[in-house]
Amino acid sequence: MHLHHKLQELLHNNPVGAPKSEEFIEILEILFPPGEVEMALLLSFSFKKLGDIAKEAGIPEEEASRILEGMADKGTILSKKTGDGRVYALLPNYPGLFEYPIMKGMDAETQKRLGNLWHTYYMKDMVHELALADPPWKRVLPTEEAMTDEVLPYEVASELIRTKSKSICLGICPCRTIEQKCDKPTDTCLAFDGAADFMIERGIAKKITVEEAIEVLKRTEEAGLVHLGSNNKNNLLFICNYCPCCCHIFRQYTEFNYPQSIGKSSYLAGIQADECNGCGICAEERCPVKAIAMLNDVAALDSAKCIGCGLCVSTCPTKAISLLKREEYQEPPDTLNQLVQTVWKNKQEKNRSRR
Ligand code: SF4
Ligand code: SF4
Repeated sequence: MHLHHKLQELLHNNPVGAPKSEEFIEILEILFPPGEVEMALLLSFSFKKLGDIAKEAGIPEEEASRILEGMADKGTILSKKTGDGRVYALLPNYPGLFEYPIMKGMDAETQKRLGNLWHTYYMKDMVHELALADPPWKRVLPTEEAMTDEVLPYEVASELIRTKSKSICLGICPCRTIEQKCDKPTDTCLAFDGAADFMIERGIAKKITVEEAIEVLKRTEEAGLVHLGSNNKNNLLFICNYCPCCCHIFRQYTEFNYPQSIGKSSYLAGIQADECNGCGICAEERCPVKAIAMLNDVAALDSAKCIGCGLCVSTCPTKAISLLKREEYQEPPDTLNQLVQTVWKNKQEKNRSRR
């Protein structure tokens, strides 16, 4: 079997998935040229020691290190230093193989080709794979200014950043970089702890402070971007700041109509019709999921669509909108590991019942 087809199969064995497609094979051919694809096939999603990889490859450790370091520098594999030396692992498609190489940057022609391939692959195949994750991979972190009573600590992004994050980085948004459908800011992608350490070490993103990260939350809210974080309670893997037009993951909801593809916040917008002056800002400029429509010059909410992001609240000139607690709310799993295991178990059960 062709080496890149074997790599596709290996990557598909991650809970995130990497379905077969012509475009994905082309992506892998760009990201893993000859010499690197063989090394990638020796890796797994758990870290492996350099010495063990070199032994399996049948090459000296220095040569294996040169190849693997080059791959980690491009953002095609993961690496970290341990007391026992360097270790390496495969990256899943999202977040990882799609984001890191584009965030790192490459020549304009390759980036354009890669961007087009990821776009086609995502829209045709990956969108369906990711959207069926149960529970969803990502959840909405509401704007804090709009939050009211009964605040859930794991929904307060700034507190999670302040209390749970050991290191933080800021990089460019790969979706807006390749899609270019809007003029929203691109220096908006936050990652934390292990992911941040890797991205900082490899020049994929820059190290920032807690205060700078909280500033990113504020300016992305002003720009009308939705904060989505990994759908677990105990810490943050990343916070992406999404627009509905470019961002791959958010388009599962806004374009492909997968209502369960995003973990909604515990809030729902509430509109006081008698306070509304009919300006239309909430419906036309702020709501990213078209949950508000103007009916006879009064804002009206489609509660089934509302994700509880709070973006409509701060810009309402008459303070007619507030966030209210929703009645039905799916709590996130406690840890990232629990999220990954649950998605994987549910996916395998679904696949078994389809056979
Ligand atoms: S922004 Fe406020 S005042 Fe304007 S349409 Fe929406 S609810 Fe009404
Ligand atoms: S109505 Fe729209 S902008 Fe307001 S909270 Fe719901 S999804 Fe967000």
